[in-house]
Amino acid sequence: MPAIIEKLYKMMETLALINSTQDLDKLLDLIMKSIKGVMEAEASSLLLLDAEKNELYFSTVSGGSEKIKEIRIKADQGIAGHVVQTGKALIVNDVTKSEYFLKTVDEKTQFKTRSIICVPLISRNKTIGVLQALNKLNGKDFNEEDERLFMAFSHQVSVAIENARLYNMAFYDALTKVFMRRYFEAWLDQEFARVKRYQTDLSMIMFDIDHFKKINDTYGHQAGDYVLQQIAQVVKENVRAADVLARYGGEEFMICLPETKVDKAFHSAERIREQIEKKEFNYNGKKIPVTVSLGVASFRETPEDSVVQFIKDVDSALYQSKEGGRNRVTVHRLPGQKPGKNKEQKEAA
Ligand code: GH3
Ligand code: MG
Ligand code: MG
Repeated sequence: MPAIIEKLYKMMETLALINSTQDLDKLLDLIMKSIKGVMEAEASSLLLLDAEKNELYFSTVSGGSEKIKEIRIKADQGIAGHVVQTGKALIVNDVTKSEYFLKTVDEKTQFKTRSIICVPLISRNKTIGVLQALNKLNGKDFNEEDERLFMAFSHQVSVAIENARLYNMAFYDALTKVFMRRYFEAWLDQEFARVKRYQTDLSMIMFDIDHFKKINDTYGHQAGDYVLQQIAQVVKENVRAADVLARYGGEEFMICLPETKVDKAFHSAERIREQIEKKEFNYNGKKIPVTVSLGVASFRETPEDSVVQFIKDVDSALYQSKEGGRNRVTVHRLPGQKPGKNKEQKEAA
Protein backbone atom coordinates (compact mmCIF):
# COMPACT_ATOMS: atom_id res chain seq x y z
CA MET A 1 0.00 0.00 0.00
CA PRO A 2 1.42 3.42 -0.85
CA ALA A 3 2.44 5.34 2.25
CA ILE A 4 -0.03 8.16 1.68
CA ILE A 5 -2.98 5.77 1.49
CA GLU A 6 -1.84 4.05 4.63
CA LYS A 7 -1.71 7.42 6.40
CA LEU A 8 -5.15 8.32 5.14
CA TYR A 9 -6.50 5.10 6.57
CA LYS A 10 -4.93 5.82 9.94
CA MET A 11 -6.42 9.26 9.89
CA MET A 12 -9.86 8.03 9.01
CA GLU A 13 -9.76 5.48 11.80
CA THR A 14 -9.19 8.27 14.29
CA LEU A 15 -11.85 10.46 12.75
CA ALA A 16 -14.42 7.70 13.14
CA LEU A 17 -13.54 7.51 16.84
CA ILE A 18 -13.64 11.28 17.16
CA ASN A 19 -17.22 11.40 16.01
CA SER A 20 -18.30 8.93 18.66
CA THR A 21 -16.47 10.54 21.58
CA GLN A 22 -18.28 13.29 23.44
CA ASP A 23 -15.86 13.55 26.33
CA LEU A 24 -13.61 16.45 25.35
CA ASP A 25 -10.48 15.39 27.27
CA LYS A 26 -10.63 11.85 25.98
CA LEU A 27 -11.23 13.14 22.49
CA LEU A 28 -8.23 15.46 22.58
CA ASP A 29 -6.01 12.72 23.94
CA LEU A 30 -7.00 10.49 21.08
CA ILE A 31 -6.32 13.19 18.53
CA MET A 32 -2.85 13.87 19.90
CA LYS A 33 -1.83 10.20 19.79
CA SER A 34 -3.12 9.86 16.29
CA ILE A 35 -1.23 12.92 15.06
CA LYS A 36 2.07 11.42 16.13
CA GLY A 37 1.32 8.29 14.13
CA VAL A 38 0.03 9.97 11.01
CA MET A 39 2.68 12.68 10.93
CA GLU A 40 5.48 10.31 12.02
CA ALA A 41 6.42 12.77 14.73
CA GLU A 42 8.06 12.51 18.12
CA ALA A 43 5.47 14.68 19.86
CA SER A 44 2.28 16.54 19.19
CA SER A 45 0.36 19.28 20.90
CA LEU A 46 -2.85 21.18 20.74
CA LEU A 47 -2.98 24.85 21.63
CA LEU A 48 -6.33 26.50 22.14
CA LEU A 49 -7.05 30.18 21.99
CA ASP A 50 -8.30 31.91 25.11
CA ALA A 51 -10.13 34.70 23.31
CA GLU A 52 -10.68 36.78 26.44
CA LYS A 53 -7.00 36.99 27.30
CA ASN A 54 -5.81 36.70 23.69
CA GLU A 55 -3.45 33.91 24.72
CA LEU A 56 -2.72 30.41 23.56
CA TYR A 57 -2.48 27.60 26.07
CA PHE A 58 -1.40 24.00 25.69
CA SER A 59 -4.56 21.98 26.11
CA THR A 60 -3.25 18.52 25.33
CA VAL A 61 0.15 17.02 24.58
CA SER A 62 1.46 13.62 23.62
CA GLY A 63 5.18 12.94 23.97
CA GLY A 64 7.28 15.67 25.54
CA SER A 65 6.60 17.09 28.97
CA GLU A 66 3.32 17.71 30.79
CA LYS A 67 5.02 20.79 32.23
CA ILE A 68 4.11 22.51 29.01
CA LYS A 69 0.54 22.89 30.27
CA GLU A 70 1.64 25.66 32.63
CA ILE A 71 2.81 27.77 29.71
CA ARG A 72 0.73 30.45 28.05
CA ILE A 73 1.88 32.47 25.09
CA LYS A 74 0.53 35.63 23.53
CA ALA A 75 -1.71 34.87 20.57
CA ASP A 76 0.78 36.46 18.16
CA GLN A 77 3.92 34.88 19.62
CA GLY A 78 5.93 32.00 18.24
CA ILE A 79 5.17 29.67 15.39
CA ALA A 80 1.74 28.87 16.83
CA GLY A 81 0.94 32.58 17.15
CA HIS A 82 2.02 33.19 13.57
CA VAL A 83 -0.29 30.43 12.37
CA VAL A 84 -3.17 31.87 14.39
CA GLN A 85 -2.59 35.31 12.86
CA THR A 86 -2.30 34.15 9.26
CA GLY A 87 -4.75 31.24 9.41
CA LYS A 88 -2.27 29.29 7.27
CA ALA A 89 -0.16 26.18 7.92
CA LEU A 90 3.55 26.56 8.57
CA ILE A 91 6.38 24.05 8.21
CA VAL A 92 9.72 24.74 9.84
CA ASN A 93 12.23 21.95 9.35
CA ASP A 94 15.03 23.65 11.24
CA VAL A 95 13.76 25.77 14.09
CA THR A 96 17.15 27.43 14.65
CA LYS A 97 16.60 29.22 11.34
CA SER A 98 13.08 30.44 12.09
CA GLU A 99 12.39 33.98 13.25
CA TYR A 100 9.12 32.80 14.81
CA PHE A 101 10.42 29.96 16.95
CA LEU A 102 10.12 30.59 20.71
CA LYS A 103 12.99 29.06 22.67
CA THR A 104 11.31 29.68 26.00
CA VAL A 105 8.95 26.71 25.66
CA ASP A 106 11.80 24.20 25.20
CA GLU A 107 13.71 25.81 28.04
CA LYS A 108 10.83 25.25 30.39
CA THR A 109 10.07 21.69 29.31
CA GLN A 110 13.57 20.36 28.50
CA PHE A 111 12.19 19.14 25.17
CA LYS A 112 14.46 19.65 22.15
CA THR A 113 12.43 20.86 19.19
CA ARG A 114 14.07 20.40 15.78
CA SER A 115 11.20 20.66 13.35
CA ILE A 116 7.55 21.69 13.48
CA ILE A 117 4.49 21.47 11.33
CA CYS A 118 1.72 23.68 12.62
CA VAL A 119 -1.82 24.02 11.25
CA PRO A 120 -4.71 26.25 12.34
CA LEU A 121 -7.90 24.89 13.84
CA ILE A 122 -10.65 26.82 12.14
CA SER A 123 -14.29 26.45 13.03
CA ARG A 124 -17.05 28.57 11.49
CA ASN A 125 -14.45 30.94 10.10
CA LYS A 126 -12.90 31.50 13.52
CA THR A 127 -9.45 30.29 14.49
CA ILE A 128 -9.85 28.40 17.75
CA GLY A 129 -6.27 27.16 18.11
CA VAL A 130 -3.55 25.17 16.39
CA LEU A 131 -2.38 21.61 16.08
CA GLN A 132 1.30 20.88 15.88
CA ALA A 133 3.53 17.91 15.29
CA LEU A 134 7.15 18.11 16.42
CA ASN A 135 10.33 16.43 15.19
CA LYS A 136 9.65 14.28 12.14
CA LEU A 137 11.15 10.86 12.84
CA ASN A 138 14.07 9.18 11.04
CA GLY A 139 15.72 12.46 10.14
CA LYS A 140 13.06 13.25 7.53
CA ASP A 141 11.52 16.65 6.77
CA PHE A 142 7.84 17.58 6.98
CA ASN A 143 6.63 18.11 3.42
CA GLU A 144 3.66 19.43 1.45
CA GLU A 145 1.96 16.08 1.50
CA ASP A 146 2.07 16.14 5.31
CA GLU A 147 0.61 19.61 5.21
CA ARG A 148 -2.34 18.61 3.04
CA LEU A 149 -3.11 15.64 5.26
CA PHE A 150 -2.73 17.65 8.45
CA MET A 151 -5.00 20.42 7.17
CA ALA A 152 -7.73 17.93 6.26
CA PHE A 153 -7.35 16.35 9.67
CA SER A 154 -7.45 19.67 11.51
CA HIS A 155 -10.66 20.63 9.77
CA GLN A 156 -12.45 17.56 11.14
CA VAL A 157 -10.86 18.06 14.55
CA SER A 158 -12.15 21.65 14.73
CA VAL A 159 -15.68 20.51 14.12
CA ALA A 160 -15.35 17.77 16.72
CA ILE A 161 -13.95 20.18 19.34
CA GLU A 162 -16.74 22.67 18.74
CA ASN A 163 -19.34 19.93 19.04
CA ALA A 164 -17.82 18.65 22.25
CA ARG A 165 -17.75 22.19 23.64
CA LEU A 166 -21.42 22.68 22.88
CA TYR A 167 -22.14 19.33 24.47
CA ASN A 168 -20.16 20.32 27.57
CA MET A 169 -22.03 23.61 27.81
CA ALA A 170 -25.34 21.79 27.63
CA PHE A 171 -24.56 19.39 30.47
CA TYR A 172 -21.89 20.83 32.73
CA ASP A 173 -21.92 23.74 35.09
CA ALA A 174 -19.28 26.20 33.89
CA LEU A 175 -17.93 27.06 37.35
CA THR A 176 -17.64 23.64 38.98
CA LYS A 177 -17.50 21.37 35.89
CA VAL A 178 -20.07 19.00 37.35
CA PHE A 179 -23.48 18.20 35.89
CA MET A 180 -26.11 20.89 35.88
CA ARG A 181 -29.36 20.32 37.72
CA ARG A 182 -31.35 20.07 34.51
CA TYR A 183 -29.33 17.19 33.18
CA PHE A 184 -29.11 15.53 36.59
CA GLU A 185 -32.88 15.49 37.00
CA ALA A 186 -33.43 13.99 33.58
CA TRP A 187 -30.87 11.32 34.34
CA LEU A 188 -32.27 10.63 37.81
CA ASP A 189 -35.79 10.10 36.45
CA GLN A 190 -34.49 7.25 34.32
CA GLU A 191 -32.30 5.83 37.05
CA PHE A 192 -35.10 5.91 39.61
CA ALA A 193 -37.48 4.13 37.26
CA ARG A 194 -34.88 1.41 36.78
CA VAL A 195 -34.29 1.08 40.53
CA LYS A 196 -38.00 0.75 41.23
CA ARG A 197 -38.47 -1.80 38.55
CA TYR A 198 -35.56 -4.03 39.46
CA GLN A 199 -35.54 -3.20 43.18
CA THR A 200 -31.83 -2.46 43.17
CA ASP A 201 -29.94 -0.18 45.53
CA LEU A 202 -29.69 3.54 45.11
CA SER A 203 -28.46 6.11 47.58
CA MET A 204 -28.31 9.83 47.38
CA ILE A 205 -26.30 12.46 49.20
CA MET A 206 -27.31 16.09 49.22
CA PHE A 207 -25.07 18.70 50.75
CA ASP A 208 -24.96 22.42 51.27
CA ILE A 209 -22.09 24.66 52.32
CA ASP A 210 -22.38 25.96 55.87
CA HIS A 211 -22.76 29.71 56.30
CA PHE A 212 -21.75 30.29 52.72
CA LYS A 213 -23.27 33.73 52.77
CA LYS A 214 -20.80 34.67 55.46
CA ILE A 215 -17.91 33.31 53.36
CA ASN A 216 -19.01 35.56 50.49
CA ASP A 217 -19.47 38.54 52.80
CA THR A 218 -16.13 38.07 54.55
CA TYR A 219 -13.83 37.04 51.70
CA GLY A 220 -15.69 38.21 48.61
CA HIS A 221 -17.81 36.58 45.94
CA GLN A 222 -14.77 35.38 43.98
CA ALA A 223 -13.46 33.62 47.05
CA GLY A 224 -16.90 32.01 47.26
CA ASP A 225 -16.57 30.84 43.66
CA TYR A 226 -13.16 29.41 44.43
CA VAL A 227 -14.61 27.48 47.38
CA LEU A 228 -17.34 26.08 45.15
CA GLN A 229 -14.78 24.89 42.60
CA GLN A 230 -12.55 23.33 45.21
CA ILE A 231 -15.43 21.54 46.89
CA ALA A 232 -16.52 20.03 43.58
CA GLN A 233 -12.94 18.83 43.15
CA VAL A 234 -12.81 17.24 46.61
CA VAL A 235 -16.05 15.41 45.95
CA LYS A 236 -14.90 14.17 42.56
CA GLU A 237 -11.83 12.69 44.22
CA ASN A 238 -13.95 10.95 46.84
CA VAL A 239 -16.66 9.26 44.81
CA ARG A 240 -16.58 6.37 42.36
CA ALA A 241 -16.65 6.82 38.60
CA ALA A 242 -20.21 5.49 38.49
CA ASP A 243 -21.50 8.10 40.95
CA VAL A 244 -23.14 11.15 39.49
CA LEU A 245 -22.38 14.57 40.93
CA ALA A 246 -24.42 17.66 40.16
CA ARG A 247 -24.65 21.25 41.23
CA TYR A 248 -28.23 21.35 42.39
CA GLY A 249 -28.51 24.95 43.49
CA GLY A 250 -26.18 27.87 44.13
CA GLU A 251 -24.16 26.14 46.83
CA GLU A 252 -26.02 22.90 47.01
CA PHE A 253 -24.83 19.65 45.48
CA MET A 254 -26.31 16.25 44.86
CA ILE A 255 -24.46 12.96 44.58
CA CYS A 256 -26.28 9.94 43.29
CA LEU A 257 -24.71 6.58 44.16
CA PRO A 258 -26.14 3.74 42.09
CA GLU A 259 -25.93 0.19 43.52
CA THR A 260 -25.02 1.57 46.92
CA LYS A 261 -26.55 0.66 50.28
CA VAL A 262 -27.16 3.13 53.06
CA ASP A 263 -24.09 2.24 55.17
CA LYS A 264 -21.74 2.79 52.27
CA ALA A 265 -23.44 6.03 51.31
CA PHE A 266 -23.19 7.23 54.88
CA HIS A 267 -19.46 6.51 54.93
CA SER A 268 -18.97 8.32 51.62
CA ALA A 269 -20.82 11.32 53.01
CA GLU A 270 -18.79 11.23 56.19
CA ARG A 271 -15.54 11.02 54.22
CA ILE A 272 -16.53 14.03 52.12
CA ARG A 273 -17.47 15.96 55.26
CA GLU A 274 -14.08 15.18 56.85
CA GLN A 275 -12.08 15.95 53.71
CA ILE A 276 -13.71 19.35 53.33
CA GLU A 277 -13.34 20.17 57.01
CA LYS A 278 -9.62 19.42 56.98
CA LYS A 279 -8.80 20.86 53.57
CA GLU A 280 -7.01 24.20 53.46
CA PHE A 281 -8.92 26.65 51.31
CA ASN A 282 -6.46 29.43 50.55
CA TYR A 283 -7.59 32.41 48.57
CA ASN A 284 -5.43 35.50 48.06
CA GLY A 285 -3.32 34.46 51.02
CA LYS A 286 -6.33 34.07 53.30
CA LYS A 287 -7.31 30.78 54.87
CA ILE A 288 -11.04 30.17 54.60
CA PRO A 289 -12.60 27.67 57.00
CA VAL A 290 -15.23 25.63 55.18
CA THR A 291 -17.64 22.93 56.33
CA VAL A 292 -20.66 21.29 54.75
CA SER A 293 -23.84 19.67 56.03
CA LEU A 294 -25.03 16.49 54.37
CA GLY A 295 -28.17 14.41 54.09
CA VAL A 296 -28.40 10.81 52.94
CA ALA A 297 -31.39 8.86 51.64
CA SER A 298 -31.36 5.31 50.46
CA PHE A 299 -33.97 3.59 48.34
CA ARG A 300 -33.92 0.39 50.38
CA GLU A 301 -34.46 2.21 53.67
CA THR A 302 -37.23 4.42 52.32
CA PRO A 303 -38.50 2.90 49.08
CA GLU A 304 -40.46 5.87 47.84
CA ASP A 305 -42.77 5.72 44.88
CA SER A 306 -41.65 8.90 43.26
CA VAL A 307 -38.34 10.52 42.65
CA VAL A 308 -39.83 13.78 43.97
CA GLN A 309 -40.44 12.18 47.35
CA PHE A 310 -36.99 10.60 47.32
CA ILE A 311 -35.46 14.04 46.84
CA LYS A 312 -37.65 15.41 49.64
CA ASP A 313 -36.27 12.68 51.91
CA VAL A 314 -32.67 13.55 51.24
CA ASP A 315 -33.48 17.23 51.55
CA SER A 316 -35.09 16.75 54.96
CA ALA A 317 -32.05 14.76 56.14
CA LEU A 318 -29.87 17.68 55.08
CA TYR A 319 -32.19 20.05 56.92
CA GLN A 320 -31.76 17.97 60.08
CA SER A 321 -27.99 18.24 59.75
CA LYS A 322 -28.33 22.02 59.59
CA GLU A 323 -30.68 22.06 62.57
CA GLY A 324 -28.42 19.72 64.49
CA GLY A 325 -25.53 22.17 64.33
CA ARG A 326 -24.09 21.79 60.78
CA ASN A 327 -20.87 20.03 59.68
CA ARG A 328 -22.54 16.63 60.04
CA VAL A 329 -24.27 13.79 58.18
CA THR A 330 -27.86 12.69 58.77
CA VAL A 331 -29.54 9.64 57.27
CA HIS A 332 -33.23 9.91 56.44
CA ARG A 333 -35.32 7.35 58.35
CA LEU A 334 -38.98 6.45 58.39
CA PRO A 335 -40.74 7.81 61.50
CA GLY A 336 -41.28 4.28 62.85
CA GLN A 337 -37.70 3.15 62.32
CA LYS A 338 -35.98 2.28 65.59
CA PRO A 339 -32.98 4.39 66.49
CA GLY A 340 -31.16 1.11 67.17
CA LYS A 341 -31.21 0.51 63.46
CA ASN A 342 -28.99 3.50 62.94
CA LYS A 343 -25.87 1.40 62.98
CA GLU A 344 -23.87 3.82 60.91
CA GLN A 345 -24.77 6.75 63.16
CA LYS A 346 -23.56 4.88 66.20
CA GLU A 347 -20.29 4.15 64.43
CA ALA A 348 -19.79 7.80 63.76
CA ALA A 349 -20.49 8.78 67.38
P1 GH3 B 1 -26.55 27.66 55.77
O1 GH3 B 1 -25.45 27.19 56.64
O2 GH3 B 1 -27.86 27.64 56.47
O3 GH3 B 1 -26.61 26.91 54.49
O4 GH3 B 1 -26.25 29.19 55.46
P2 GH3 B 1 -25.85 29.83 54.08
O5 GH3 B 1 -25.33 31.19 54.35
O6 GH3 B 1 -24.93 28.93 53.35
O7 GH3 B 1 -27.23 29.80 53.30
P3 GH3 B 1 -27.96 30.80 52.35
O8 GH3 B 1 -28.87 29.95 51.51
O9 GH3 B 1 -28.55 31.91 53.12
O10 GH3 B 1 -26.83 31.42 51.42
C1 GH3 B 1 -26.41 30.86 50.25
C2 GH3 B 1 -25.50 31.86 49.60
O11 GH3 B 1 -24.85 31.28 48.48
C3 GH3 B 1 -26.23 33.06 49.06
C4 GH3 B 1 -25.69 33.27 47.67
O12 GH3 B 1 -25.25 34.57 47.48
C5 GH3 B 1 -24.51 32.32 47.61
N1 GH3 B 1 -24.26 31.78 46.28
C6 GH3 B 1 -25.12 31.09 45.50
N2 GH3 B 1 -24.53 30.77 44.33
C7 GH3 B 1 -23.28 31.29 44.36
C8 GH3 B 1 -22.18 31.29 43.43
O13 GH3 B 1 -22.23 30.77 42.32
N3 GH3 B 1 -21.04 31.92 43.81
C9 GH3 B 1 -20.93 32.52 45.04
N4 GH3 B 1 -19.78 33.09 45.36
N5 GH3 B 1 -21.95 32.54 45.92
C10 GH3 B 1 -23.11 31.93 45.60
MG1 MG C 1 -28.35 26.73 50.48
MG1 MG D 1 -25.54 27.04 52.74
